[in-house]
This record gives sequence, C-alpha cells and structure tokens, in this order.
Amino acid sequence: MKAHTEYLWFHTKNKREYINITERVEEIVRKSGIKEGFALVSAMHITAGVYINDAESGLIRDIDEWVEKLAPFRHDYRHHRTGETNGDAHLKSLLIGHEVIVPITDGQLDFGPWQQIYYAEFDGQRDKRVIVKVIGV
Ligand code: ZN
Repeated sequence: MKAHTEYLWFHTKNKREYINITERVEEIVRKSGIKEGFALVSAMHITAGVYINDAESGLIRDIDEWVEKLAPFRHDYRHHRTGETNGDAHLKSLLIGHEVIVPITDGQLDFGPWQQIYYAEFDGQRDKRVIVKVIGV
C-alpha cells in the first residue's frame, strides 16, 4: 500500500467563496501513482467545508443562500463572547461537512455524473488549507 499527502492553500478575496478543486485533486492523484484506492479531501479548519456536488453557478448561489438562511451572520452568537465574530461560519461548516472521500479506479477519481469537489470558505480573507491524502496501491 502507498500513501501520498499534499496540502492545498487558500486565501479568498471574500468571506464566503465556493472553489472547484477537482482538477487540483486529480493532479495530486496522478502524482501519487496510485491506481486503486481512495482520496480523502478534508478542510483543516472549523469554519470551512469540502463537499461534492454540481459545478453549476445557479446551484452554488442556492447553496450560499441556503447556508445563510439556516446559519445567518449575526452578532449575538454565544461564541462571540470569546471575542470572535464568526459564529455563523462554524455553523455553516457543520451544514456542509468538512471532508469527502472519493474512490480511485484505474488511476482516476471515480465520480458519478456531474460530481465535482468544492472547497467552501465561510470565514476567508486569511490563509486556510485542505489536506489531500491518497491511499491505495
Ligand atoms: Zn470562531
């Protein structure tokens, strides 16, 4: 069994952004030389997420509206008593989830139709990273 680990760095212009990282993960899988196995893609922060869904701009705006509706930016979160202002970003991260596992078959990410990997930033404008760990043979 082989293992290959890389980190993807992000520093978004906006507080909230949704970034398609599929090609970057595919490149890491290619470099790993692993033909059969799994790729774990996991946000290393508690105010960001990783998800798999359609790369369709209307859907991305719908997802953004949905997380903002369920976990709106507010000033009165108890978490803010610590001096932070990102209570909504923690809750949005919980809604989206922080990692995905993608099967690798024949050296390729083995996706179903329209599946793409996204990094979801909820408290950006600073350095953040995602770990990509490829395991297999
Ligand atoms: Zn916080």
